[in-house]
Amino acid sequence: MLQEHAASPGAQSPGAFFVSAGAMNKELERVVALQRLDSATQDAQRRLAQEPDRRNAFEARHEAARQRVAADKERLTASQAARRELEKEVAVHQGRLSKFRDQLMAVKTNQEYQAMQKEMAFAQSEIKVIEDKILERMLEADDLTATLKRAEADLAKEQKAIDADRRVLDAEVVELKASVERIASERAALAAALDPGVFGVFELVARRRNGVAVAEARDGICTICHVRLRPQVFNTIRRNETIVQCDSCQRILYFVPPAAPSAGTDRSELPAQ
Ligand SMILES: [Zn+2]
Repeated sequence: MLQEHAASPGAQSPGAFFVSAGAMNKELERVVALQRLDSATQDAQRRLAQEPDRRNAFEARHEAARQRVAADKERLTASQAARRELEKEVAVHQGRLSKFRDQLMAVKTNQEYQAMQKEMAFAQSEIKVIEDKILERMLEADDLTATLKRAEADLAKEQKAIDADRRVLDAEVVELKASVERIASERAALAAALDPGVFGVFELVARRRNGVAVAEARDGICTICHVRLRPQVFNTIRRNETIVQCDSCQRILYFVPPAAPSAGTDRSELPAQ
């Protein structure tokens, strides 16, 4: 369908066409203008139809940033809990150690004293090992805290960016809806001015051909369905004097005369549609 839209008058520069083709049949001119309006409406409607997806994408971006913060917070909490567990273990060993110190006064034999000393040395070495682990956890918590802060800053930044993008989308939707309405009234006026028979053909083909009832004929070919036109038919179309339909796709065909740079009607100099 994109290909069809690219080849429809709306995507081209019919303004240039009108300037350089003063001799164009009024009905054909209106039909081309009507198609340009319809194609513009279709583009606007397509854009409007994307609105829910675009809003969901904003929500997804926000959610992703929120989840990064939540995951970092969870890692920090887990690390802090692990550290508290280690501190409890140290407390247990220290409790045993102080109990040994008290009991040391009461020992009777050298053997008992030696055994007690051994227990105390073991408790002390355990404490040393656990304290090293606590230090590791403290360093880890510093890193995790920094990571969490970054994620929180990113979330705030993303939230701002999303809010800005939302405002852009809001404005775009308002503009698109307004342009659809504007085009509709323009179209109604144009349709009223058009010969009812020609308008009927336009509407019928548009319904059957996905809203594109008009095609440019170029180099002897219908530029939308790509069928080769009979030379005599193409010659008639080149004159832009009558309504001629493509034998294959039934679209109403028109011809864009080659630009005449000397006359100042070079298409490239005209404003884009
Ligand atoms: Zn065709």
